[in-house]
Amino acid sequence: ALAMTACGANTSTGGSTPTETNTDSASGGGTKVGVILPETKSSARWEGFDKPLLEKALKAEGLEPDIQNAQGDVQKFSTLADGMINAGVKVLIIATPNSEVGASVAQKAKASGIPVIDYDRLNLGGSSDYYVSFDNEKVGELQGQGLVQGLEKLAPGKKPAEVIEIEGAPTDNNATLFHNGQKKVLEPKYGSGDYKLVQSQAIPDWDNQQGGVTFEQILTGNGQKVDGVVAANDGLAGAVITVLKKYGLNGKVPVTGQDATPEGLQAVLRGDQFMTVFKPIDAEANATAKLAAALAKGDKAGADALATGSVEDTKGSRTVKSVLLEAQLITKENVKTVVDAGFVKAAEVCVTD
Ligand code: BGC
Repeated sequence: ALAMTACGANTSTGGSTPTETNTDSASGGGTKVGVILPETKSSARWEGFDKPLLEKALKAEGLEPDIQNAQGDVQKFSTLADGMINAGVKVLIIATPNSEVGASVAQKAKASGIPVIDYDRLNLGGSSDYYVSFDNEKVGELQGQGLVQGLEKLAPGKKPAEVIEIEGAPTDNNATLFHNGQKKVLEPKYGSGDYKLVQSQAIPDWDNQQGGVTFEQILTGNGQKVDGVVAANDGLAGAVITVLKKYGLNGKVPVTGQDATPEGLQAVLRGDQFMTVFKPIDAEANATAKLAAALAKGDKAGADALATGSVEDTKGSRTVKSVLLEAQLITKENVKTVVDAGFVKAAEVCVTD
């Protein structure tokens, strides 16, 4: 019944899926493009979505991608970048564990005349030429709104509703933007006494396991009382839910998330997680590939025309030309949207357990 109502009768997948690879694209004519992703312990997205989707999108533009993952190791990130620069990539696309390594890699690439695209995460104080991401402050607002909806449903009339915030890595500019967006919605509630902020804690490297340990400490420190949890992504939400289960609180406390990962969506359907944020990574990969194709040809005007907006680097006092995509709030009621978009297969999320 869960599968039918939440995911609809259409259990066969319509659109393309992240695991699909573009087999009919040619070798790409040798125009090499390097991509370095940050790690694997923070989110299922990097290996599960970004990697295959970037591979497909870059090949579709006739480019030859080399996609690596630094596994959270800053030294490895630098070494991978050096290797790609030496191999003569025409464009470097980076999603970094922190801004420092991103800034240093961009500097080196640019010294070799290689344009750099900051992918998903803006490197503060860096020198990248372009930035492709989502409107990340808006993502945070959606999380704040999701928490409000969840508290209205699961803790109506509770005043103050006690909230714990498990935030992303302090070294990831996105984590700051998510938090800023959440604050827009939640600070008035904390201020009015409707909600009470028990504690807000940033988790280094977005490490999911660490997130669970930290959440449990805060929960037990508060006499095992909590009414709502801001978890900055689905990985952290999963860790929080594991702890809530231990105390018999799962499903009774709204937990936010982000990324619309299969695990996150399953938790939403089970009712353990109240919401997630759907960021169509295929659109992010496609926009990045188009930009990379223009830059690889040396077509700066073409690349500029693709950048529809700009963001301020709060550390570097510079403006970075950007493509910022829209995200969407997902609750139990509209999980089907994510399936219909071809982002995940119904069979991956419509589990009954
Ligand atoms: C990304 C999120 C992701 C998080 C942890 C952020 O920079 O925007 O989608 O969940 O990093 O990897």
